Amino acid sequence: MSVIKVENLNKSYGSLKVIDNLSFELKGGEQVVIMGASGSGKSTFLYMLGGLEKCNSGKVLVNDRDLTKMSDEALAKYRNKDIGFVFQFHFLLPTIDCLENILMPARLGKANLSKVKSYVLGLAKRLGVEDCLNKFPYQVSGGQQQRINLIRALSLKPKLLLCDEPTGNLDSKNSELVTDLLLELSKEMGTTLIVVTHDDDVAERFEYQIQMVDGILN
Ligand code: ADP
Ligand code: MG
Repeated sequence: MSVIKVENLNKSYGSLKVIDNLSFELKGGEQVVIMGASGSGKSTFLYMLGGLEKCNSGKVLVNDRDLTKMSDEALAKYRNKDIGFVFQFHFLLPTIDCLENILMPARLGKANLSKVKSYVLGLAKRLGVEDCLNKFPYQVSGGQQQRINLIRALSLKPKLLLCDEPTGNLDSKNSELVTDLLLELSKEMGTTLIVVTHDDDVAERFEYQIQMVDGILN
């Protein structure tokens, strides 16, 4: 069964056509990297899969539910419960510590907090950022912030993990580490993983690579 099925998707910003009649299908548990030059529409596509951006026409089916037909309220629930999103820029709130940042989706979704806490603590240990949990985002490095970001995205065990240039701000060593963790964790959890990147070193770690050129996937 397809976890994601996109049909004839179109998206324009004014006269700029960003996604051009795109169709795309993905089975559950797959790990895919989408590559392409800056401005080719990668982020826009990922945002539409994440229910963060609306299309002009077409269908975006995730687990047989069409995101383009869902209410804002249903989309908010979808974003909270069904997907994890790792943004290029971390979007950690500066006024609360890293643990509280990680627990935000759990609090919003009224999940069992102590269960989520023990789960994310395990992830933090594994990712080597246990010591960061009680620090504010500005007190930890970029690589650590990105790992915190990743733990937050995984905190509610999403079926689908969408990552926009997750290693964009990292040096090559941290970039490799984060990429391998993404692959390892998603495999272990049976999570479908889509990573967008323009970094060849990141892309070559994936078996399944797709190119985006001017809003079309090849
Ligand atoms: P990529 O992630 O591949 O670099 P994007 O999806 O961010 O590409 O952007 C594709 C094109 O759409 C670019 O030309 C960009 O300037 C334009 N674009 C993206 N978001 C907006 C927006 N909110 N308003 C207007 N133009 C946008
Ligand atoms: Mg982008």
